[in-house]
Amino acid sequence: MDANPRPLRRPASVVQLLRQVRSSLVYLKASGCTGFDCSAEGLATLARLGIPQRDAQTGTLPPADQETPTEADVVATVPETLDAIRADLGTCTRCPLSRGRSHIVFGEGDPRARLVFVGEGPGFEEDRCGHPFVGPAGQLLTKIIAAMKLSRETVYIANIVKCRPPGNRNPEPDEIRCCLPFLKRQLAAIGPQAICTLGGVAAQTLLESKTPISRLRGRFHEFMGIPLMPTFHPAFLLRNPNKKREVWEDVQKIMKKLTT
Ligand code: SF4
Repeated sequence: MDANPRPLRRPASVVQLLRQVRSSLVYLKASGCTGFDCSAEGLATLARLGIPQRDAQTGTLPPADQETPTEADVVATVPETLDAIRADLGTCTRCPLSRGRSHIVFGEGDPRARLVFVGEGPGFEEDRCGHPFVGPAGQLLTKIIAAMKLSRETVYIANIVKCRPPGNRNPEPDEIRCCLPFLKRQLAAIGPQAICTLGGVAAQTLLESKTPISRLRGRFHEFMGIPLMPTFHPAFLLRNPNKKREVWEDVQKIMKKLTT
């Protein structure tokens, strides 16, 4: 027997299937289904297994056409894509925030992102252009993402509500109730390895907690079976630059959590 057997290489179709199984589990848990293992540990294992492996000898990744799902993969897939969720949202009037908005800010980034940032809601600039986290706070978030050796294109950025609350007030519970199912579906479709909430409203909403952000931040919680790190909102950091060190500590913990 070979004393140093080469590690078994997972075919690309299996990698694809593992990713889809993980997304399906997250989706089912978000839909309220029970009776199966959707623990953070189980999902983390699936996340690790669902990473394409480089060939041990050539160091190359599987060709793109090998990433194409097989028929069995497709059968196993929950038929939710970000495009389908966006289409379902339509020109949403499910809550009163629709009346004052210029644009729905759906969220943007990599549909297979390992990390999803969740803020509170669009502000003036975001409402004007339809993109999340633009303007001064968005520029600071972009710098934080770059410091994590990631980019806005490789993460996903969304908000608790997709339309701007008047005067940038906090979203009302009824508004959150109407909008949150779409964010949950987005998270299920993406299947990230970690979520980073920005500011108190996002953290308290997803964690169903009234604990202040200053006490929630700094450690991982869990949402839909996904590790969730709360940290301060970039707009808060602009007003309180002495808090940047704490945010840097939080994002370093996230960086350690992300598998490559
Ligand atoms: S905030 Fe969400 S639920 Fe309310 S109108 Fe906008 S998209 Fe619809």
